[in-house]
Amino acid sequence: MRIDVLTLFPEMFESPMSYSILKRAQENGIAEIVLSNIREYSEDQKYHKVDDKPYGGGPGMVMMCQPVLSCFDNVKKQANGKWRTIMLTPQGKPFDQDKAVELSKEDRLILIAGRYEGFDERIRTALNAEEISIGDYCLSGGELAAMVVIDAVVRLLPGALGDDTSSEEESFSDGLLEYPQYTRPEDFRGLKVPPILLSGDHAKIAAWRMEQAIERTKRKRPDLWEKYSLRPENNQH
Ligand code: SAM
Repeated sequence: MRIDVLTLFPEMFESPMSYSILKRAQENGIAEIVLSNIREYSEDQKYHKVDDKPYGGGPGMVMMCQPVLSCFDNVKKQANGKWRTIMLTPQGKPFDQDKAVELSKEDRLILIAGRYEGFDERIRTALNAEEISIGDYCLSGGELAAMVVIDAVVRLLPGALGDDTSSEEESFSDGLLEYPQYTRPEDFRGLKVPPILLSGDHAKIAAWRMEQAIERTKRKRPDLWEKYSLRPENNQH
């Protein structure tokens, strides 16, 4: 998968892209992450201006059409085949695991991160892009949101995790939160690992984990539980 990110702060991506799964996915050719600096596309030769005051007044600055759309045109030129364009905005559809799975099936994503008071509305109109929000709060910029999307998507690409089944069993993958996990030692300051996990009985362990996943989803995320239990295949619980 190739992921292009259009941003005013490409340097912000250096650290998160340089560790662990994201680093390995790039080294192994599973994901290519290409950063484009919107400022370099500004036609304002002197100040490389990318933002201006809002028409109608009001606080802050708005990202101008020209630098964003020229940057987009350049990135798009490098695309062979299909791509999917996503603007990170607080007004977008909330990002979740289903969306991450959907995006992980694409060959190419173009992510656009905003800054300041956000985008001139005509950028939305011109691109007719999908908008994604990572939650109901306002960040200072779309870079962190783009990183969240990249991380959640890349770890789902085949070969990105050491064991591809890891992503099948974790929270949200089947609509439930993950069951409790334990590692050595068996007894830590009197806190013991549940005996069933030491029993070697894989069927019983699987049943216990399912029970636990259900119990904690009901308790911690009743909203998820409601969704899960409404699915016809799950109404036996
Ligand atoms: N004035 C805009 C509004 O009220 O909708 C908010 C602009 S915000 C300060 C600057 C940029 O941060 C946005 O253009 C967007 O790219 C990004 N951003 C902020 N919150 C976000 C969120 N929850 N999810 C995704 N991107 C977000």
